[in-house]
Order: sequence, then C-alpha cells, then structure tokens
Amino acid sequence: MIDIDKIKKQVEQTSTLDELEALRINLLGRQGVLNSYLKELKNLPLGERKKRGEELNLLKEELESVVNKKIEAITSSFLLERLKKESIDPYLPPFPINIGRMHIINRIINKIVHIFERLGYETVEGPEVETEYYNFEALNMPAHHPARDLWDTFYLNNGKLLRTHTSPVQIRTMESNRPPIKIIAPGRCFRKDNPDASHSPVFYQIEVLYIDKGVNFAHLKGTLEYFARSMFGRDQEVKFVLSYFPFVEPGAEVAVKCVICKGRGCITCKQTGWLEILGAGMVHPEVLERQNINSKIYSGFAFGMGPERIGMLMYGINHIRHFLDNDLRFLNQFKFHLED
Ligand SMILES: [Zn+2]
Repeated sequence: MIDIDKIKKQVEQTSTLDELEALRINLLGRQGVLNSYLKELKNLPLGERKKRGEELNLLKEELESVVNKKIEAITSSFLLERLKKESIDPYLPPFPINIGRMHIINRIINKIVHIFERLGYETVEGPEVETEYYNFEALNMPAHHPARDLWDTFYLNNGKLLRTHTSPVQIRTMESNRPPIKIIAPGRCFRKDNPDASHSPVFYQIEVLYIDKGVNFAHLKGTLEYFARSMFGRDQEVKFVLSYFPFVEPGAEVAVKCVICKGRGCITCKQTGWLEILGAGMVHPEVLERQNINSKIYSGFAFGMGPERIGMLMYGINHIRHFLDNDLRFLNQFKFHLED
C-alpha cells in the first residue's frame, strides 16, 4: 500500500520543478504507482473493488494537492530570489543627458527678426560672396569713393568680395520687387578689422529696409523706439545722433540708454550713459533712382545692427569672440528660452 506520509516527505524534499515533475510522474503518471494499483482493481471481488476504488481516488486527490502546493512554493521562492538578484535602485541618479540647443547668436537674431515680423516685415537673405556693384556701387559708392575705406574689405581672386555689410540685400530686393518693400535681412558679414573686444573678422548684421509712399524720419524713429522697447524693456529710451553713411540721407547713429547702468555712467558706456546699437537713415534718393524707383514718389528708411553687440549689452558679455569660439562653458550658460 502507498505510504502517504513518506511521499509527502519526498515531495517536501524536492527543491526544483524538474525534480518535482519526476516524482509526480512516478506517482501519478500513466506508468506511475497509483495507476498500477488502479489496474489491479479489476482482479478484486466486486464489493472490495468499490471500496478500494474510492480509497485510491481520495489518495489521488491528496497527492495531486500536495504536488500542486509544492509547485506553487517552488515557483514563488524562485521569483523572490530573482527579484532580489535583479532588483533596481530607483533612487540612483540618472545618466546625464546632453540636450542640444540653438546657439545664443541665432536666438538673439530670431528674437530681433520676430519683433520686425510683428510689424509686417518679410525675412530675406542674400549671398555672402558679393560683387563690388552690390556691396559698394549701387549703394552710392562708385569706384575710388573715399567712403569705401570705411570697410576694410576681403577681396577674392575672381574679382568678387566677401560682403562687408548686409546692405547689398537692399539692392537685390529693390531689383526684383516694387514698393511697398518691407524686409529684414539677417546674415554673416566679413571685414579685415583688427580683432578686439567688439570687432571680429566674421560677424552678423541685420538689415532692415522699408520703402513706400510718404515714409519719413518719424516712421524711422517710431520703428526703432518700438524695437528698442521690445528688445530691452518698455521704458527703454532711444537717442538719435546725426551721422554719415553714403547710402542714406540724413543718416543717424542710434543709441539706447545704457542697459547696464541705466544711464548713470559705467565702463561699458564709457561713462556717457548711452550705448550705440545701430546705424540708420533715410534711403538716399540716388540709391532709389538707380533701381528705377521714383524718389519723388517713394521714400524709405534703412538700418543695420549687429546682433552680437546687442547680445553683449543684454547679457554683459565682454568679448565678441565668445560668439564664435563654441566653448560649451559659455554656450551652456544660455539654457533658458528667449521669448519673442
Ligand atoms: Zn553704462
């Protein structure tokens, strides 16, 4: 007869599912111990066969439940052990992720461009390699004009040059469009200047041009005041000082009340309380006439500004080369988003 206690002990002693399965087959399988007893039933007399059959069925149920319990026990202990081995620590710091971001100079340019887009200006671009015609002649500076010396120019072997300002974009726009013209043209420029804190051979300029009937100096002033307040704050004061550029008449240099000392005087504004940010003026009638725009009907204003200079003033940056060096220690300081 089957010794149920002995079997329970055997089941208890197994430690793997494989061992347990072998034992189960031995007990409950087709060729197992229990089946061999069941097969012998038919040799018993009828009365005894029924009684014996019930006994064996109960035994079978008990064995199955003992084995199933052990299967559960082994599975859960295995799972616990695996959890212990493969545990993760959610409190460990994550690996640092370096997220790319737009270069600060592009963000300053975008902010300036967005201000003028709100006023209806269209963004256009022109080539960095220019001809003397677009860079000088069409801007009222014929050959040997002394004003050409204002820009120390990189000339190329093919007779072309690297544009010294974005003003050639004015001419290209007037060639292919009729007034009203309202454009903003950001881009790189090149000059053979001696590099210092505020001069670099490569720099950006943003050109703005507006031509229509009846445009006058008051429009220019209003536009620049709107720009300065959008860029530096709503109380920003703006000053115009008469100046000379060959392609405008009259011309002006535009200064904002020093954003660092608020006009009291500091090193950045050289104790004047004012900071020059751009050159501006009414487009010279000669420049308009050359592009077949009747200067008796149409007039306009233009100005050009350096976004590096504006960025230096806004963030207290003391050298223009920081914009070109691509030193991450500098660039990573501008993690915020510029609003427009
Ligand atoms: Zn100052």
